[in-house]
Amino acid sequence: MDLYSEIIKQNANALSKAITLAESNLESDQIVSQNLISKFKKNNNSIRIGVTGIPGVGKSTFIEKFGQTFLDQNKKVAILAIDPSSEKSQGSILGDKSRMNELSANKNVFIRPSSNSGDLGGVANKTKDCILLCEAAGFDIIIIETVGVGQSETTVSKLVDIMLLLTITGAGDQLQGIKRGIIELAHLIIVTKDDSDNKIKVKEAVLEFKNTTSINAPIDNYWTPKVVKCSALENTGIIEINELTNQFISNAKSDNYFGNKRMNQEKFWIHKIIKEEIGNRKFKLLVSENRLYKIEKEVINCKKNIYQIIKSL
Ligand code: GDP
Repeated sequence: MDLYSEIIKQNANALSKAITLAESNLESDQIVSQNLISKFKKNNNSIRIGVTGIPGVGKSTFIEKFGQTFLDQNKKVAILAIDPSSEKSQGSILGDKSRMNELSANKNVFIRPSSNSGDLGGVANKTKDCILLCEAAGFDIIIIETVGVGQSETTVSKLVDIMLLLTITGAGDQLQGIKRGIIELAHLIIVTKDDSDNKIKVKEAVLEFKNTTSINAPIDNYWTPKVVKCSALENTGIIEINELTNQFISNAKSDNYFGNKRMNQEKFWIHKIIKEEIGNRKFKLLVSENRLYKIEKEVINCKKNIYQIIKSL
């Protein structure tokens, strides 16, 4: 199968195969994978959305409904998962086949759990390649699901255009259990399970979040994070979250911020891979010799793939 032409034709099997290659730890697979990925044109029409929150908060139930709002807008939706805690919590976060039943039956949806191999940085780096492959295969909306354990949000925020933090009401301080740094990464803070006798508590939680000063500080392109509520079970508040997401993206696109952010993210990953492969000291040498700039340009313009360049260094 010619993966390149089949992916362009939006063949889901070809996409699956390409993702398996991208996730492989074999060097030979990585070479094939990187060559394949570097052939595709960049797609700035997609939207990359991070969804995070502690286990049990309702991420997959939410994504099921949230994904549907994009399908209703004639978009194709890919869902990828990063699970940095696979050893502690048995298995992958998307491992449970019963999850997202409605979405997984739809031909405009692609769902793929992470391979869980290696450290978080390694998994995330592969997820970056999976995002590019999904976009090449015609997916407009790429949702990256991650378990809220702190470090994973920071990493995922380097892969996505917008971060959604899911939370639920709890006894006492709503901010408990959510690390400050994560709040500062979130464009939308969503208090979910706003249904039955939980509604009053949800309303209080929303107010409490809104009164948290760190939330009122603009992030990313003057965007003030929004605090909203929803019930995935009753399908309320989900369309509003779709609208806010689209609003953030169109704001970011109106002044080039969107493209710049993606480019900076790309540079972040290029630097990370180079440092991992050749070490910090040699990386600094590249910077001081003004060679890094050229490498960035070559990779970003798809002239060469990063591993080819590293080999030649
Ligand atoms: P995840 O671990 O974050 O992906 O959480 P799940 O989506 O698996 O949901 C965990 C539990 O919360 C399940 O029992 C869901 O049925 C329940 N749940 C999810 N969303 C809602 C909601 O909006 N309202 C209520 N009442 N329960 C929900």
